[in-house]
Amino acid sequence: MEENLNVYEIVQQQLAVAARELDLDPGVHDLLKEPMRVFTCSVPVRMDDGSVKVFTGYRCQHNDALGPTKGGLRFHPDVAIDETKALAAWMTFKCSLVGIPYGGGKGGVQVNPKELSRREIERLSRNFIRALAPIVGPDRDIPAPDVYTNPQIMAWMMDEYSQLKGVNVPGLLTGKPIILGGSEGREEATARGCVIVVREAAKAIGLDLNGATVVIQGYGNAGSAAGRLLKELGAKIIAANDSSGGVHNPDGFDPIELKEHKDRVGSVKGFPGCNEISNKDLLELECDILIPAALENVITTKNAANINAKIIGEAANGPTTPKADEILDERGVLVLPDILANAGGVTVSYFEWVQNLMNFYWSAEEVKEKLEKIMVKAFKNVYNAYLENDVNMRITAYMVAIKRLDEAMRVRGWV
Ligand code: NAD
Repeated sequence: MEENLNVYEIVQQQLAVAARELDLDPGVHDLLKEPMRVFTCSVPVRMDDGSVKVFTGYRCQHNDALGPTKGGLRFHPDVAIDETKALAAWMTFKCSLVGIPYGGGKGGVQVNPKELSRREIERLSRNFIRALAPIVGPDRDIPAPDVYTNPQIMAWMMDEYSQLKGVNVPGLLTGKPIILGGSEGREEATARGCVIVVREAAKAIGLDLNGATVVIQGYGNAGSAAGRLLKELGAKIIAANDSSGGVHNPDGFDPIELKEHKDRVGSVKGFPGCNEISNKDLLELECDILIPAALENVITTKNAANINAKIIGEAANGPTTPKADEILDERGVLVLPDILANAGGVTVSYFEWVQNLMNFYWSAEEVKEKLEKIMVKAFKNVYNAYLENDVNMRITAYMVAIKRLDEAMRVRGWV
């Protein structure tokens, strides 16, 4: 049978398996299948040449049983409603899994920001948040940066919304620059969370991290920080890549120097002391820990049987297909699923929002301590349930997340 690679259908499949295992009430399952709200808007932008272009924007609010919805806004030509719905559902499960009081949301504008000037991107950001203003807010739905959006875009949006309301509203969104109420530790939070669960998983299966070999697919924000943090724990980074190529040295290399090289030349390629390696070969290298930190659907039926890692820590969203999950589980590879392994990002976003609401700010050390507690607890909840159940780590993670959502919807009286 052809492997299904549509992310919306993948979420539906994963939810259906978890619902069956939990013997979930059909009403709860139906509530989780479809988002509670999908908002579409036209966003007009005055271009630098005086003409007006109109872009389509979306915001999907999947489920708010546990709290206001939370999730990124992306600016990308492929932004589409199905993918936005899938990503919003993943956010619902992720927030529930780590026990933070949020539901899931996601949104974006169908646009290629590389074709826009900085001023045009600023006008797009301001006009998009004006269009979203009736449905977002610190108690309602809290956006964040995502693909091709960044702290500067969050700053423009926060400013526009605050001007509209006539008061300063830093808690409108997260991922802001620190000067406007961003949190210490947000930049490395996804990687730090991922490395905490990898460290706990290594302990659980008796793998010594000292000298353990690590391969990283996607040496961007999450991937490069994961490399640095794993090296701090004694691991040896032996390969990494980005969209233009990969580098490999079986004796290991310094992940910070590789990051500096990439910042300087724009790619990991040509890093001294390493051989070149293709994306396909990199994923199949023999290693203790594989960190996919790039794209969706990179571990599939085509390569799952050749993956040579003991632990996969999914920093990326959706890197492994359901069929590949089955193959990896049968082969004894421990997959730390995305909704667990990359939840450090939304967790520190939650810290940012809490600090904004209190107007009281924490040190980087306090943020690290609080993140550590939440991630260790989430790993233990999933791993202990995994040992008791007969399903893989991903389905177990869904089950842990859905149980909390089920309870919240019941006590609210929705089912
Ligand atoms: P990023 O853009 O900083 O890095 C992505 C990297 O992947 C880039 O270096 C890019 O060159 C590389 N890449 C692209 N195509 C590739 C390919 N075919 N093969 C190998 N590498 C390729 O993005 P990021 O913020 O690090 O996010 C990476 C992943 O982590 C995404 O799936 C994202 O959804 C997920 N994630 C990120 C965060 C966060 O806070 N940054 C939070 C949760 C999930």
